[in-house]
Amino acid sequence: MASKAASKNRHQGFATRAIHTGYEPSEAHGALSPPIYMTSTFAFETAEEGTAKFAGELPGYVYGRSKNPTQAILEERIASLEGGEAGVVFASGMGAITSLIWRLTQAGDEIVIDHTLYGCTFAFFMQGVSRFDVTVKPVDLTDLEQVRDALSPRTRIVFFETPANPNLRVIDIAAVSALAHEMEALVVVDNTFCSPAIQRPLEHGADVVVHSATKFLGGHGDLVAGALAGPKWIADEARQGMRLLTGATLSPMAAFLILRGLKTLELRMQRHCDSALAIARLLDGHPAVRWVAYPGLENYPYRELARRQMSGFGGLIAFELYGGIESGRTFMNKLNLVTRAVSLGDAETLVQHPATMTHATYSAQERAEHGISDDLLRMSIGLETLADLEADVLQALEDLPVAPQRHAG
Ligand code: PLP
Repeated sequence: MASKAASKNRHQGFATRAIHTGYEPSEAHGALSPPIYMTSTFAFETAEEGTAKFAGELPGYVYGRSKNPTQAILEERIASLEGGEAGVVFASGMGAITSLIWRLTQAGDEIVIDHTLYGCTFAFFMQGVSRFDVTVKPVDLTDLEQVRDALSPRTRIVFFETPANPNLRVIDIAAVSALAHEMEALVVVDNTFCSPAIQRPLEHGADVVVHSATKFLGGHGDLVAGALAGPKWIADEARQGMRLLTGATLSPMAAFLILRGLKTLELRMQRHCDSALAIARLLDGHPAVRWVAYPGLENYPYRELARRQMSGFGGLIAFELYGGIESGRTFMNKLNLVTRAVSLGDAETLVQHPATMTHATYSAQERAEHGISDDLLRMSIGLETLADLEADVLQALEDLPVAPQRHAG
């Protein structure tokens, strides 16, 4: 029989499921907050029971690298929020991606990736899997002609982020999934920049969603974690990838902290989105700013697509200053409240320089070819009082070079 926790929440709203799914207090002495099972291994009543559990003939836990009850609550909750049949959590976003891809790929396969991905994901594909007779094709997935040309009967996986890190290009999940499925390829979407509160790729036709749960899911900058949601057979494969290939197991303590973070996910995302739109507009109207990428800006080329597949425009902004990276460094160093740090999705607003930080794994030539300008700055808008953020950004932009024509006018 399904546990109370499993059967209770299926049809409830997003915030309710983010708070309750996967956990039933009456099954844990009435504790409102779920227990943290800090154990590396699990005792068997008999030798036969251990053997049966290892063989998968009996349910239950055997060893902490594969599965733990605190993780199991989180896995059920994330699967519910993404609308997937099953979930798995990992020690990091890279742990999620590598456990999945190593397990689903074999020599002779082809993988199509979008040409802008988080730097370490890009490096994993280009310097990792591609060394094992897997052909990795980086293409611009915003161009459906390029998608068609890149796909072949040997394509096993199509992998992308939307909006893409760091330049916020938006990829049409439904259109790319339809083309990939004609070739029987699996579509994996990295939903880190959105979280399921504002975008659920499985509803648009993707097969699997992966996350750096370090970011919005955890939401407090105090842990590193990964997650995945999708069909049970893929979740099972990824768990085997974690168990046998990467060992990227999430600690029960970090699983608990993410469960805590998820309780406020919907509220936090609303605030991230509102403040990011305000800061994007401020930047867009400032004479020292050359260009702003934010899906919610009225003049942003991907705005209509973003409206179709996202219910909010997210907390990330990318932009360039007229003075190039010289001005960018001055701007970053003048910020008092905004913190100079990589990562995103935290309560604190963060700023970083992708070319020398998160995307330093790309060569200069790759960055040029893949649309990652050396002048680009990326901000993750946090939860501080908006007026304080606006004041900090404005004072840091003061006296920076402005657009020649605006200056003259
Ligand atoms: N995917 C995206 C979009 C990211 O931004 C990151 C990290 O910044 C990762 C994956 C990797 O996640 P982690 O740092 O948790 O390994």
